[in-house]
Amino acid sequence: MLVRVLAALACLLPVSGHTNPPIGKNVIVINGATIVHPSQNGAAALEPGATIVIQGDRIQLAGAGITLELPQGATIIDGRGKWVAPGLVDSHVHFFQSGNLYTRPDAADFNGVVPYAEEVARNKARLDATFKVWLASGVTGVVDIGGPFWNFDARDRAAASPAAPRMAVAGPLISMIDDPPLDLGDPPIIRIDSVEAARALVARQLARNTDYIKVWFIHQKGDDLAAQEAIVKAAGDAAHAAGKKFAVHATELLVAKAALRAGADLLVHSVFDQPVDDEFIALAKRNQALYCPTLFVMQGYDLALSNQWRATPEELKRADPEILAAMDDLNEMPADKRPEAVSKLMAAAKMPDPPRIAMENLKKLSDAGIPIVMGTDAGNIGTLHGPSIHREMRLMQESGLTPLEILRSATTNGAKALGLEGKTGAVAAGMYADLVILDADPLADSANLARVYRTIKGGVVYDPKALMESIR
Ligand SMILES: [Zn+2]
Repeated sequence: MLVRVLAALACLLPVSGHTNPPIGKNVIVINGATIVHPSQNGAAALEPGATIVIQGDRIQLAGAGITLELPQGATIIDGRGKWVAPGLVDSHVHFFQSGNLYTRPDAADFNGVVPYAEEVARNKARLDATFKVWLASGVTGVVDIGGPFWNFDARDRAAASPAAPRMAVAGPLISMIDDPPLDLGDPPIIRIDSVEAARALVARQLARNTDYIKVWFIHQKGDDLAAQEAIVKAAGDAAHAAGKKFAVHATELLVAKAALRAGADLLVHSVFDQPVDDEFIALAKRNQALYCPTLFVMQGYDLALSNQWRATPEELKRADPEILAAMDDLNEMPADKRPEAVSKLMAAAKMPDPPRIAMENLKKLSDAGIPIVMGTDAGNIGTLHGPSIHREMRLMQESGLTPLEILRSATTNGAKALGLEGKTGAVAAGMYADLVILDADPLADSANLARVYRTIKGGVVYDPKALMESIR
């Protein structure tokens, strides 16, 4: 164990200007670890032989060549043979959905088996457990990019919880179409057909201090794209005027370009109908837009609804056991209870498996310098909160992104999606102590991001195993 002297102790003092509590209280020291710096390239991305000192919720010191006397009472974590990366961020999740079969009656109507109202009530009651599965997967930040107004309560709950990721949220989606099966009185998707109505719904969300305004930009044959774009732009302008970020769901090239013209800061899905072109790239650059490829989600629906969904090793370990247990309910379900077909909307959104064009677009945009953010759309049928990040990152790696680029998307760029750039997403002095300690090198293979030894969020250390045991 590293016990050397004094030199750097002074560095424990100044950071934020106010007087720190005596050294030794709430201090965590990780020593002998390799720090991963996802914002760096080449050899600079790894810093072996490093010490990390955490006091309260912040990193006080991080780097190689630090010598210090171990403060009395400090918690020591032996970092030898371990890698310390910034905590991961999933930039696309939905807490009103669980990932099970009953969670999207607009896509597949299982109301005859589990009424949708029961499913949503379950999801609300289960929030604390859902928060924990995220931490168990090394995720210290999530963006819930659209849901009912109770999303804002979920954000408050996460902020007050002893074990939850940081959360940014959007309220109800400003939508081009109705989605009645999801309307229980506080719908996650609201049809808006005028600029005035868009501004009014934005105002209601601003009153709840929303982090994002989100548009569900569905463009169907015969729709007037210019009229739709005007509504989208009104929503974006109102968000920006209030200093909020603007996210858009737009999956076709034509529509995604309209979304960018309307001011999108975050595209939450891939363009999957055709290759992106120079105009798209120029618009994305103009907006400094983040691009979330969300590659796995449609396969999740296909697999689960055809009863071919099988848990990955990560899901067996780190998915909510209640959800896992229900994933093969189709086995037991009488034929007359099964929905005959998925909805027309689902059929229209169907991507090939694997989503080739989306994967090629991801590589092209990453190479063009568009900031990519990792996001799963967790909560959709077949995409479980927490460990589904590994299904997503596997597809990102198959798209040709390097492990470093993937980790950057889930940390450096994820911090931007969270609105916490400069506060989280790096292992450096002054940042929140949001970290994941890994048993294997995440830059050798993204799959090593599943080898979580500990997750630290806001200076609190979590053992994934203990987190999972606490929700059984
Ligand atoms: Zn989504």
